[in-house]
Amino acid sequence: MGSIQTQFKPPAFLNGQPKLLLIDGQLVPAASGKTFKTWNPSTGKVLAEVAEAGAEDIHRAVAAARRAFEGPWSKFKPFDRQAVLLKLADLLDQHFEELSTLDTLDMGGPIARTSAGRRRGIALLRYYAGLATATHGHTIDNSVDGNVFSYTLKEPVGVVAAINPWNGPLGLAIWKIAPALATGCTMVLKPAEQAPLSPLRLGELCLEAGIPPGVVNVVTGFGEAGAALAAHPDVDKIAFTGSTEVGQHIVRASAGNMKRVSVELGGKSPNIVFADADLDEAVPGAAMAVFNNSGQICSAGTRLFVERSIHDEFVERVAAFAKTLRVGDPLDPSTQLGPLVSDSQLERVTGYLAAGKAEGAKALSGGARITEGALAEGYFVAPTIFAGVNDGMSIAREEIFGPVISAMPFDDVDEVIRRGNDTPYGLGSGVWTRDISNAQRVSRGLRTGTVWVNCYQTMDPAVPFGGYKMSGYGRESGAEHMEEYLQTKAVWLKGHPMKR
Ligand code: NAP
Ligand code: MG
Repeated sequence: MGSIQTQFKPPAFLNGQPKLLLIDGQLVPAASGKTFKTWNPSTGKVLAEVAEAGAEDIHRAVAAARRAFEGPWSKFKPFDRQAVLLKLADLLDQHFEELSTLDTLDMGGPIARTSAGRRRGIALLRYYAGLATATHGHTIDNSVDGNVFSYTLKEPVGVVAAINPWNGPLGLAIWKIAPALATGCTMVLKPAEQAPLSPLRLGELCLEAGIPPGVVNVVTGFGEAGAALAAHPDVDKIAFTGSTEVGQHIVRASAGNMKRVSVELGGKSPNIVFADADLDEAVPGAAMAVFNNSGQICSAGTRLFVERSIHDEFVERVAAFAKTLRVGDPLDPSTQLGPLVSDSQLERVTGYLAAGKAEGAKALSGGARITEGALAEGYFVAPTIFAGVNDGMSIAREEIFGPVISAMPFDDVDEVIRRGNDTPYGLGSGVWTRDISNAQRVSRGLRTGTVWVNCYQTMDPAVPFGGYKMSGYGRESGAEHMEEYLQTKAVWLKGHPMKR
């Protein structure tokens, strides 16, 4: 049946040597000497051995971040931090092909998608470089007696533990590093075990950009490494992106020393299509709100609510569109859906496909793993739309994190707002309509951190993103994001009594 990627020459970074931890500017093995394997989900083969950090390595990385925070990095003025972030943006641009290829190999994102991350990655670094010199406290009039002046200082929160998932390894690492460095924090970054390669390479580029050793440390490993970071008494803040379940562990672990916490968690986002929508836009819009990255996006619009009068026609059109999507080798520039990230993710998603069918839903497209030809060696699932779903089914309630849409009809605006909100999550949502009052009512009524109207998944470094309810708290992007990494200090300055 033949295999894919047999002729491909991997980037030089994959030189057969174990990938090491980046601590204090040095590439070092884990103290235990342990390593783990990272896999290529397109072929099921090993890509690299990677150092497995344990508690001792976490401790060393946090100590390095603390020394850098109090030492060399504290001497960097806002202008200097801006300069190194701009330099990092240039290096990212120069090395982007290598980095996007590492992500495609490590987690299976189609190269067309990982390559398209260039603009966003550079834009994030440049946006926060700008904010580095635009952050300031206030002078505040007070009403106390005497000659007393008051003002606020914005100070970096300190040592940040950034813990990330695997679904966008490079972009998510940049999203954490950029605001942390802009504010003057230092960082220990723990990427996900499934896709640690591009964050390690990015850590090397940070050094090349002139960011002092210890400011960005990258520790690869399993959940235990993340847990050791989350509990570490010398970490001042945790910036976590991942599942709601692990997010709850993080919040509990933070209590030991009252760390600041921001948590960007899972979702089961509603995407609502009214009969008056531009259906030629809404069909691909609804499909790609889920099928992008094979559904492995936190804000994927997985609960598709369609106004009853167009429901049957609309879901048939989405199914027909899904059948045109090219699932295949993610290194092929024409591929639109790559594999799922791992065998366990495959198991999870196919489990939901079986549950959906058992509960009575009907797959109008896809519905199964691809088991024929060369793709059978990887973890490929065909893009699936289920019809005949009701609100109570597990496929309508639980985050699947695969290319699976659950479609349901609705009759009126209040009903669809209520059903849209009937979930523990509150991350993203979409509404497709030409009626401005529908758009306004739905966007006000849904309790989600983002509402997209006649579009989906649009992002910009200046526009905040984050969750309501169990999708977490804190905002990434925009000026709000800087606040996540800043303390506010009030200073009271009493002068001599004023003589009149
Ligand atoms: P995950 O299992 O929660 O893992 C996220 C990170 O936490 C990984 O680095 C993981 O390490 C680490 N970790 C695991 N257990 C830990 C513990 N007890 N203490 C500290 N860290 C621990 O999530 P995932 O499967 O990688 O990613 C998928 C999830 O991320 C989905 O729920 C998705 O919705 C969410 N997500 C949210 C956003 C957002 O912005 N809201 C964006 C992307 C993804 P290991 O890799 O070694 O397990
Ligand atoms: Mg991998």
